[in-house]
Amino acid sequence: MGDTRNVSTTSDFERMLREVTLRVTRPRVAVLAAVHDRPHSDTESIINVVRAELRQVSHQAVYDVLRALTTAGLLRRIQPLGSVARYEARVGDNHHHVVCRSCGAMADVDCAVGTTPCLTASDDHGFVIDEAEVIYWGWCPDCSTAHSS
Ligand SMILES: [Zn+2]
Ligand SMILES: [Zn+2]
Repeated sequence: MGDTRNVSTTSDFERMLREVTLRVTRPRVAVLAAVHDRPHSDTESIINVVRAELRQVSHQAVYDVLRALTTAGLLRRIQPLGSVARYEARVGDNHHHVVCRSCGAMADVDCAVGTTPCLTASDDHGFVIDEAEVIYWGWCPDCSTAHSS
């Protein structure tokens, strides 16, 4: 949260859509913008953000856009066990996540060293590995403070 490194504009989002040969539509641009602004958002909060801007967009339309953007590789879908799906725009770097057991807060965790060392499994069992998904579970600072007091 609060990551302001990538300040993307509407034309950036339009270009991203064209690069994956998706037609540029206002709902697609609005969903991309919402997820860029709020990494690890769940579907419900993305719908709220998009509908604040485009009132006529249905829930189903947002679901469809999320699926299309995820399939096209513009968004990444993360679904920790027992949690609703979250979406983020940081794709293609195989980073991992830390999730709070109590409130569901989520943050990015880079691979330990280099770009994707986690892809070098200690035993690949003959599989061709292209992705590693690690979820670190624990307590976020707010919840661990509340928990211990
Ligand atoms: Zn928490
Ligand atoms: Zn992430």
